[in-house]
Amino acid sequence: MLRSFASLRRRVISGVKLQKARSVVSSHRRGRSALASVGDAVKEEFEVGREVSGFLVKEIQDVPELHLTAIRLEHLATGADYLHIDRNDQNNVFCVGFRTTPRDSTGVPHILEHTVLCGSKKYPCRDPFFKMLNRSLSTFMNALTGSDYTMYPFSTQHPVDFRNLMSVYLDAVFRPNLSEMDFLQEGWRLEHQDIQDKSSPLVFKGVVFNEMKGVFADSQQLFMQKLQNGLFPSHTYGVVSGGDPLSIPQLTWQQLKDFHAYHYHPSNARFYTYGNQPLSHHLEFINDNYLSNYAKINPQTEVPEEPSWSQPLYAHIDCGVDPMASGEAQTSIAVSYKLINITDTFETFILQVLGELMMNGPNAPFYKSLLEPKLGSSFSPSSGFDSHTRNTSFTVGLQGIRSDDIEKIKCVIDETFDKMIKDGFPMERVEAILHNLELGIKHQTSNFGLGLVMALTPLWNLGGDPVNALQINRNITKFRKCIDKNPEFLQEKIAEYFKKNTHKYTLTMSPQLDYEAKAQKAEEALLGEQVSALTNDDHVRIWEQGHILARKQEEEEDPSCLPTLQVSDISRNVSPVLLTDITLSGGVPVQISDQPTNGITYFSAVLDTQDIPDHLRSLVPLFCGVVTRMGAGHLDFRQIDQEMDLFTGGLDACTHLITHPINAAQYEEGILLSSHCLDQNLAKMLDLWTLIFNEVKLDDIQRFSTLVNMIATNQANSLVYSGHRYAMTASSATTSHVAALTECWSGLKYLRQMKALSEAEDLSHTLEQLRELAGLLLSRRRMRVAINAVPNHRDTVLHSFENFLNNLAGNPDGCISHASLPETFTPHTSKTHHVFPFPVNFASKSFPGVPYAHPDSGALRVLARLMFRFLHREIREKGGAYGGGAAASPGGAFSFYSYRDPHSTQTLDTFDAAVEWVLSGGFNERDVAEAKLGVFQSVDAPVSPGSQGRRRFLSHITDELFAEHRRLILDTESQDLVKVARTYLREAVLEGACLIGPHNDKISSDCFWNTITN
Ligand SMILES: [Zn+2]
Repeated sequence: MLRSFASLRRRVISGVKLQKARSVVSSHRRGRSALASVGDAVKEEFEVGREVSGFLVKEIQDVPELHLTAIRLEHLATGADYLHIDRNDQNNVFCVGFRTTPRDSTGVPHILEHTVLCGSKKYPCRDPFFKMLNRSLSTFMNALTGSDYTMYPFSTQHPVDFRNLMSVYLDAVFRPNLSEMDFLQEGWRLEHQDIQDKSSPLVFKGVVFNEMKGVFADSQQLFMQKLQNGLFPSHTYGVVSGGDPLSIPQLTWQQLKDFHAYHYHPSNARFYTYGNQPLSHHLEFINDNYLSNYAKINPQTEVPEEPSWSQPLYAHIDCGVDPMASGEAQTSIAVSYKLINITDTFETFILQVLGELMMNGPNAPFYKSLLEPKLGSSFSPSSGFDSHTRNTSFTVGLQGIRSDDIEKIKCVIDETFDKMIKDGFPMERVEAILHNLELGIKHQTSNFGLGLVMALTPLWNLGGDPVNALQINRNITKFRKCIDKNPEFLQEKIAEYFKKNTHKYTLTMSPQLDYEAKAQKAEEALLGEQVSALTNDDHVRIWEQGHILARKQEEEEDPSCLPTLQVSDISRNVSPVLLTDITLSGGVPVQISDQPTNGITYFSAVLDTQDIPDHLRSLVPLFCGVVTRMGAGHLDFRQIDQEMDLFTGGLDACTHLITHPINAAQYEEGILLSSHCLDQNLAKMLDLWTLIFNEVKLDDIQRFSTLVNMIATNQANSLVYSGHRYAMTASSATTSHVAALTECWSGLKYLRQMKALSEAEDLSHTLEQLRELAGLLLSRRRMRVAINAVPNHRDTVLHSFENFLNNLAGNPDGCISHASLPETFTPHTSKTHHVFPFPVNFASKSFPGVPYAHPDSGALRVLARLMFRFLHREIREKGGAYGGGAAASPGGAFSFYSYRDPHSTQTLDTFDAAVEWVLSGGFNERDVAEAKLGVFQSVDAPVSPGSQGRRRFLSHITDELFAEHRRLILDTESQDLVKVARTYLREAVLEGACLIGPHNDKISSDCFWNTITN
């Protein structure tokens, strides 16, 4: 859960595109037979003008390309807006959202979002939201603060669960307790550094305060925030809705309550439901329990259009030094343009296509003019078209540039616009982008309903028509007509929106060595100011308040007021995935899954790498990163990219590493290839793969170094927000051979390797090694294949694949076996501190785990989930970190982690305390049941038709093994948890610890710690 909280928040607060065009329109449905009846039932029951449970039906629209019917309603007494999407999908979604448009940077909407989840009238226990994570089979639960909205979405496949969660969500937002203690805990407070020690200094504490310090320490996010503030300064986008750490301490509890009363009112609310459950039940519940208690108000929460500037503006900001970026070139630049009102959906569609044309892939003009000459390491954050604000915007810029190049880059950007106005775009590029849209509509994801509300909310929240925005085919048809009628249509748009646009904002950012020290000083100054204003009474109050809060956090409480599912609600039966195994082309194993894929063929292949020489092994992830992007045969890298866009959803390669599900001494290492396409394009897609297998062009050193730079930059950027993942990978690296290889292929080791390569003078030797790898790997010799397609297409599919495989080099091995663990690796204990100049830490501790089918694997998963309860309280609530928990991935290590943590070694002790908490029986039967429900959220997560069968294909987990593993989880009892905690954690023969964070005196003087500085 932590990761989705973190990454979603990151994207939403920062105003980055939440969903790209293609994911907006991706779709999901189960089974084909019921398709015909979609919408029929709902249309019988509802008709425009009818009143249902206090709601007036205003509009009903079929959207055949997405297999859905949209129903728009208005609550008569309050004016609340309601959108229901009727679709034959079990994974139902609920969301309630409010327009929250702050005029200061105290973070009031963000702190409110946290605080309403701390307890409500009907559910007065502490943190009901987090508790429901364990009492539900939800497939998603979250709360998000955007620049101008706050939304509370969840999804679940279970009807009782849906009702339970809807009740908790509605009570949280409409009847929260908003107690002062909750405000102090979640928002900010002054408190003694050590609450047991009156002489320790007073400091700022609070979950959001710490969270936003972390956000502001990330220069990428800082840049995005300041860019939006600068482009739209006049109203709510000119402030920081998440909260500026230096402004947060101005917020009072009363202001928080006032903001709630005004903004969290039904008249300012938007309700969204999605799926196959009856709308009438939802309406009745919402009206009877909540909306009927309110009268209409007229909230003044609108965001006006940004007044246009008569001339462009410039600004410069400082940031911290990025240790992972190369020394010389750490400046960023972005040029942003204010565009049309978001409610103009067709113009927004045009700009979306234009944005793709201008920026995306090696054929795009800005890619050619900015990235290829290596003016910078990659596009700047926020680059591309953005439709999340009242006025949409387009940004183009670079990061990793030399400060001397700023003027030059500005010129290049202007020249690129000029060139586009003069030359236009090749029609095949436009076709490729429209093809991608079409493929996106047919490609089904398992969380379609959720993706939809995320994508529609910015528009809907600002008064746009969400139903109109769903009519993608209509927009495509209209767009085609425009270009048919006027061949210079797009050129004219560029002239209008960019060349003649004086509302243009240029932001540059460069690192200052003393940035962190200055930020620290500013916080200290603010602290000094506040502390010096305190009276004696205040000091007494703060001391007491600290203790009241600590006691409250310690209290054991009774969550029985909350609704819950029971373990018995989890089905013991597994519906089998029907798979057919055949061999093609003289021995290549092929797994076929007949699925209602909506006219798309899905292909995956694993190429085994166990035979490759050791000196090439560390290059496998880089090989994956470039192999489909360098060109092949008669196609250079631009042409192959164009072909991929025109006929496929992209050709991907990534590393593949998995422990044998039964035998711990065996594992599989390899690369995973995957792609999908419309059925009629299968031959084209396989032709592209054939070219890559037989004639990949690994010789363009220029192109190669562009890609190396981009990969290195992406890796470095991921560290700040995936620090806990890096910490877990690093802490487990010495516990097993597979974990060590994972560290090498995707951990800090890989990140450092890529940094070194991006700084290397000459990459020709590396490229030579990749050619060697290509010669060894790109054959059908040690290859296995999986195909998902509709059954009536099967003969054609098999024929195409037989042809494809026949054209590849190598003779199939016939039976591909797992590799055995090498004797060269001995698992051992280690403690490593990776020093990075962050203001917060990511801590992790790992222990060797067991294979998937091991009798203890179920109990270990339940144990990890059970410990979340303890860790959340200690690390987040008391410790002030953004999050913490434990994970037991079958076949991998058992790992503890903390996320954006103000503490370091103390958290490692907390991990040990979690083990003692279990051994001393600190939990009860209810906790065990909740942990099981929590585990099943991921075990039984919905799977889209294109992904069915992957469990067996990738991990060799058969339906029988899966059923047995589920049984092990369901049958886990308290004593099993104590037993596995003792065996695998307390009495473990070895463990790994890792800390990622700033210099630490305690650790640097401890000889058991290995410190790695950059
Ligand atoms: Zn937050």
